[in-house]
Amino acid sequence: MNQLPLSPSTAVSTWRRYGGRPPILVVIVWVVAFCLPIDAIAKPTDTYSLDGVERIIPAKGKTKCPAVELITYKGNTVKLAPSGRVNEEFAKRLDRFESVLIDVATEIYGRPPKRIRSLGTYNCRRIAAYPTYLSEHGLGNAIDISAFDFGPAKKDQKLPADLPKTLRRSFSVNILKHWDSDRGVGKIHQEFLHTLATRLIERDDIFRVLLGPGFPGHKNHFHFDCSPWRIVNVF
Ligand SMILES: [Zn+2]
Repeated sequence: MNQLPLSPSTAVSTWRRYGGRPPILVVIVWVVAFCLPIDAIAKPTDTYSLDGVERIIPAKGKTKCPAVELITYKGNTVKLAPSGRVNEEFAKRLDRFESVLIDVATEIYGRPPKRIRSLGTYNCRRIAAYPTYLSEHGLGNAIDISAFDFGPAKKDQKLPADLPKTLRRSFSVNILKHWDSDRGVGKIHQEFLHTLATRLIERDDIFRVLLGPGFPGHKNHFHFDCSPWRIVNVF
C-alpha cells in the first residue's frame, strides 16, 4: 500500500536510520539513477490538479492531510466495491481505468467484470517506510485493488472460442491467488492480470505510480496513484 519516492536524499536518510553512512559508490549510483530519465522513476510530462500539493510532512506526530475535495466513487462503468472516497481528478482516471479493464476482460473472458474489489481509497496517513511523505491515499489520489468478480455469461454472449466452460459461469480473479498461476484456468487469470497491468503501464494518461506483486508489500493488490512522479513496479 506504499509508494516509493526514491530520491537520493530519502535513500541516504533511510540508510542512516539503519546505521551509518552509505559507501560513496552507493551514493553515486543512487544520484545517477535518480538523474537518468528512466521509466521506473521519472517526472511526468503532463499536469495534474494535485501536483502542487505538498507531500513532505513531519516524520512524527499525528498525520495532517491537506484539505482536498473528495467525492464518493462507486465506479462509472464497473461497480467499485466497496465504493471509495477520491478526489474528482482521480475519479476521472478511475473511469479511464475501467475502460481498459473492460477491453482486456472482453478480449479474454468475452465480457467485462461486474465488480472491482477495493482494499481502500482515501485514508489520511503517512507512507510507513517513508514517514516524511504523505501517502497518496491521504489525498484521495490512490486506490488498492485486490480482485475482479465476473458474473455468468449471457446466453447470447459472444465468447472466445477457447474459453473453458467453467469460465462461462461466475468466477473471481484474485491478485494474490492468480498472479503467478500457471495451470488450468488459473493460467488464463494470470494472463488477464498481466495483460491488464501491461496495458495500464503503456498509458501515460491514467496512473503514474503502478505497484503490484513485484513490489514489497503488494503480493495481494495493485496500488495505483497519481503522484507527481512516476514509479512502475508491478511485475
Ligand atoms: Zn495503496
